[in-house]
Amino acid sequence: MLPSGERVPAFGQGTWFMGDDRAARAEEIATLRLGLDLGATLIDTAEMYGDGRAEQLVGEAIAGRRDEVFLVSKVLPQNATRRGTVSACEKSLKRLKTDRLDLYLLHWRGGVPFAETLAALAALQSAGKIRHYGVSNLDLADMQEIAPLPGGAAIATNQLLYNLTRRGIEWDLLPWLNARRIPVMAYSPLDQARLVNNQQLAAFARNYGMTTAQAALAWLLAQDDVIVIPKCARRERLRENLGALDHALTEAQLAELGRLFPPPQGPSALEML
Ligand code: NAP
Repeated sequence: MLPSGERVPAFGQGTWFMGDDRAARAEEIATLRLGLDLGATLIDTAEMYGDGRAEQLVGEAIAGRRDEVFLVSKVLPQNATRRGTVSACEKSLKRLKTDRLDLYLLHWRGGVPFAETLAALAALQSAGKIRHYGVSNLDLADMQEIAPLPGGAAIATNQLLYNLTRRGIEWDLLPWLNARRIPVMAYSPLDQARLVNNQQLAAFARNYGMTTAQAALAWLLAQDDVIVIPKCARRERLRENLGALDHALTEAQLAELGRLFPPPQGPSALEML
């Protein structure tokens, strides 16, 4: 749930590297469309991905179905000035063949002052070009700096690297966000497929009748205010991943995973991919 009270699907679809390989294109589009059929209606993309190619592919995939989708894109930090943000957003809208984004994120912190980016995001919101805005890859100090600025209270999410092997945010950033009911969008929830090949997780999953990818996703989905956005380019894998929603983990299973993949014991620098 967003801080505004609007509900969004906890299971979305990532698109990094989509649109890069012509041979894979048709299946990538079919996968995104199948996701819409099966309720994974949040789609995460960015102007950065393939220099706009991922947005173009998403535009094709959602053609005629825009109203079913909760569409998320991101502005690059070097574009995140007062005018640059507006212009980047308009280019994204063109590639996506739509008149609005549901959520627009600052991709990571760059040299532009937060106040300037926030002013641009608020202007885009007033103009109806974006419905909500938020941030990505901001650490606790960044959040404490941006939140009190004009427009900072409207930040709807922080999209962060978060999975069983990247639990650093649980030390201080996640509690800070939870206290404010700001959901986390967990990116690289499969650690870019490394978790799928993790032998300990594979053994756990086998033991409980799920696949390794399902176990990784079910662990994230067990938490309130966490949205997962795994990327997969094949329909068969998408069906498998969505199966995570049918495996609500028990307290005992969560404790077992906590022993295999321990939580942080102290603060650490925010990890990014
Ligand atoms: P990910 O979702 O953790 O992993 C994607 C990889 O896992 C792909 O290689 C995919 O293969 C593979 N995969 C998916 N399901 C599988 C399954 N059931 N079995 C085996 N392999 C499977 O990594 P990600 O793409 O980095 O992260 C997800 C999304 O988060 C991105 O696409 C992007 O939208 C977003 N993201 C945001 C940031 C940011 O800075 N804000 C950074 C990174 C990612 P195939 O594609 O071949 O199916």
